[in-house]
Amino acid sequence: MLKKYLQLGLVLCLIFSVTMCTKTTQNLEEALNSISAESLAKNTQILSSDEFEGRAPASRGEELTINFMKDEFLKLGLIPGNGDSFFQDVPMVEINSVPEGSLAIKGNKETNEFSFGDEFTSVTLRTVDEVSLDNSEMVFVGYGIVALEYNWNDYDGIDVTGKTVVMLVNDPGFATKNPDLFTGKAMTYYGRWTYKYEEAARQGAAGAFIIHETEPAAYGWGVVKNGWTGPQFILPSEDQNMSRCAVEGWLTLDVTQKVFQQAGQNFEELKAKAIQPDFEAVSLDLKASLMLKNSIKESVSRNVIAVVPGSDRADEYIFYMAHWDHFGIDPSLEGDQIFNGALDNATGTAGLIELARAFKNLGSPPKRSIALLAVTAEEQGLLGSLYYATHPIYPTFKTVAAINMDALNIYGKMKDITIVGYGKSELDDYVKEVAAEQGRIVKPNPTPERGSFYRSDHFSFAKQGIPALYTGTGNDHVVHGEEWTRALKDKYTAENYHKPSDEFNPKWDLSGAIDDLRLLFKVGYKLSMESTFPNWREGTEFKAKRDADMQRQ
Ligand SMILES: [Zn+2]
Repeated sequence: MLKKYLQLGLVLCLIFSVTMCTKTTQNLEEALNSISAESLAKNTQILSSDEFEGRAPASRGEELTINFMKDEFLKLGLIPGNGDSFFQDVPMVEINSVPEGSLAIKGNKETNEFSFGDEFTSVTLRTVDEVSLDNSEMVFVGYGIVALEYNWNDYDGIDVTGKTVVMLVNDPGFATKNPDLFTGKAMTYYGRWTYKYEEAARQGAAGAFIIHETEPAAYGWGVVKNGWTGPQFILPSEDQNMSRCAVEGWLTLDVTQKVFQQAGQNFEELKAKAIQPDFEAVSLDLKASLMLKNSIKESVSRNVIAVVPGSDRADEYIFYMAHWDHFGIDPSLEGDQIFNGALDNATGTAGLIELARAFKNLGSPPKRSIALLAVTAEEQGLLGSLYYATHPIYPTFKTVAAINMDALNIYGKMKDITIVGYGKSELDDYVKEVAAEQGRIVKPNPTPERGSFYRSDHFSFAKQGIPALYTGTGNDHVVHGEEWTRALKDKYTAENYHKPSDEFNPKWDLSGAIDDLRLLFKVGYKLSMESTFPNWREGTEFKAKRDADMQRQ
């Protein structure tokens, strides 16, 4: 009898699971098919239209953008992600620092003056009326890096308190391509300007200038000029950021060479010395003076968050994120003044809508909840994601993973997909499995020297320990191959990246973006149906944080 019941049970189970399985498959197909190039194009076009004014935080463009996202999420039947609101306030301080006159550099019986914007940039994060450098001694500190794990200290044996440090961009590993120095050509966090200014402040410097060189910076002077000559947005801090340097800026290579010449030094020679572990900082014996007048405005920008509630473990979340903001309008420009940010990142923002629709079209909800987060002020230094990650609405230890989209594929179908920060987390395995289903292969990001892992919003989540995935678009076009793709991407970086010409083009081939969105959907879907938590791999910088956080489960 017992055996018979068992058999019957087994048969019933089989029938039941086959039915379930078929049903799930059908729903999954339906969900995947609802991700469409037409609506991705339409929403990208709307978000990057002139009407949206370049989507600057705390602007009219913001109002239009966040309400557009909210309305789209509402139409799809998603629920608000922050209590009864679709928005999370992100308090920000907007500082507009304008130099009084020029940057004056005195020494060796001459004074040279340099002009703001074309020759140098300068901002302050100190939220006070004015800051200045007054005859501040200039010191060349190589890469400006203190990295104990690499046995490296560019500030060793020198006190730069009140002085103005001048430093190279990127890190010695990139400069030498020596795989044993730092991480070879892959940029470390020490290569990023964010780190260099932070370190200069820790050392007590009054001023900190980074020397711009296109190759190690990974972008031209135009990007520096656009990014650093308008208002800067920061999160408010209790000490008014007095712990930061008074002045943070960039010098063109041309200006740098002139300054070193004035100091009687040879820039190329000192640069060559800076890659040696025994490099010692060199005083240039020059005095820098500069005054910045600040106008300070406190403002509030907003992240947008919507949720597809899970059926079984609704308190556990898979995040999809994309920054909705871009640079707004620059009235000082001739001709086109609107930074439409079509690729960067109207595409990713519109991608959130596609994913939301797909999860709603599953028929039955996923087991874990799905959060769609459109963050603000990425272009100002990942502020919206930083604010969310440090003021999370859902506990970080209940946040299974974060999947970031920043600039989707506009070039068509690819044989591959790249992971930025490949090898760091177990999420790679999910991508590999799903990519194989699409007949695609997974590759590491081919340009780790650009430090992309530290340059978009997933990094804010990673710093809090949350496993974060950031895929690139793939580079091996199914018809045209790799060289063709690289040429187009380089052209975009040179001509359109962070410029008013990053505009929607109806000729874009979004078929590859649809592949990527379907892939990311499946990754999130798999995670949503599991009960395990993926982690960072052994030896990565975020694993200890995650392990400690998961103890709170
Ligand atoms: Zn972006």
